[in-house]
Amino acid sequence: MKRTILITGGAGFIGSHVVRLFVNKYPDYRIINLDKLTYAGNLANLRDIEDSPNYVFEKGDICDLDMLRALFGQYDIDGVIHLAAESHVDRSIRDPFTFARTNVLGTLSLLEAAREYWNGEWEGKLFYHISTDEVYGALELTRPEGDAAGGESGGGPFGEEFFTEETKYDPHSPYSASKASSDHFVRAYHDTYGMPTLVTNCSNNYGPYQFPEKLIPLFINNIRHQKPLPVYGRGQNVRDWLYVEDHARAIDVIFHRGKVADTYNIGGFNEWKNIDLIRVIVRTVDRLLGNPEGSSEKLITYVTDRAGHDLRYAIDSRKLKRELGWQPSLQFEEGIEKTVHWYLQNQSWMDDITSGEYEKYYRSMYKGR
Ligand code: NAD
Repeated sequence: MKRTILITGGAGFIGSHVVRLFVNKYPDYRIINLDKLTYAGNLANLRDIEDSPNYVFEKGDICDLDMLRALFGQYDIDGVIHLAAESHVDRSIRDPFTFARTNVLGTLSLLEAAREYWNGEWEGKLFYHISTDEVYGALELTRPEGDAAGGESGGGPFGEEFFTEETKYDPHSPYSASKASSDHFVRAYHDTYGMPTLVTNCSNNYGPYQFPEKLIPLFINNIRHQKPLPVYGRGQNVRDWLYVEDHARAIDVIFHRGKVADTYNIGGFNEWKNIDLIRVIVRTVDRLLGNPEGSSEKLITYVTDRAGHDLRYAIDSRKLKRELGWQPSLQFEEGIEKTVHWYLQNQSWMDDITSGEYEKYYRSMYKGR
């Protein structure tokens, strides 16, 4: 085998796309997927590649340092792509300790296991940490009505400012605070010990295999069952959206050609106000289900806003385009069509994970709606 790469969180949403891409594209790499299989981890996300000869699944917790030490030795790991995390902001508001444990202590344990095993021999090694744009805080909504010419005249359609790689960290939720802390630890391992590290901060991902507590799969599933569509506040928050396979492609490019100790922002230049995005989803699902188009808009239900809800995220990913030639491959209309189609075609995948524990969580979040 040419390389042995440890991918953590590979049974989750983004991780499963990264594992699939690496297993298929690099038959001469051994890909170890380490995942605890929390509520968000699902081996059904990887059915199509699970028998590949260059793929190994290991069930384990990134906070378990002894297990990590043994894993590095057993497989002679030379690269890490670290995605394992608690990832849902609403859950972090209810249970911040779990986020500090996994995202901060888990990342630290992984760094420490890599440092011990690599023992100063950094040649050919890389610790690549996947993070979020939420660490940068929130931007102003200076063009609240949206300005299609925004991209040309500077900034995005909803405001002049973007997050760049130089933007100061200013996290507001327990989730983003825990990710910010883990990013700092990764950079500190480079600055203190010389470990070859990389950090990328990406905007909101969408696509197949996303756990249905997140907006897009949640709404597709609710429309299918004609259940209310809970919209925070008045749906005015703005997010940038990137198709998950484009994120996985960016991770591949950066893992192989990124500059060590550097940071890259990854985004879609694709800002949407939540309420407008929801209307696009409604129209697409209605059309694909054969409902009168837009008829499910009646399900939109405004609910009390999320505490500390950041108004606008918008990411400037021009550095990645300029230096490594990556850019999103899919137009949003195409990505949303593919995504809705996938969830409607894979209803049993959705039904399997929305029963049991998740159903209880959902009821407690949305008061039985
Ligand atoms: P996810 O919640 O779908 O998956 C997380 C995975 O990590 C799951 O498979 C889970 O079982 C595993 N995991 C959780 N705790 C673990 C532990 N202690 N030990 C081992 N495995 C554990 O998350 P996602 O949306 O795929 O996000 C993946 C990464 O990308 C995260 O680090 C997240 O912060 C980051 N990110 C996500 C987005 C997004 O839009 N989803 C955007 C930018 C960055």
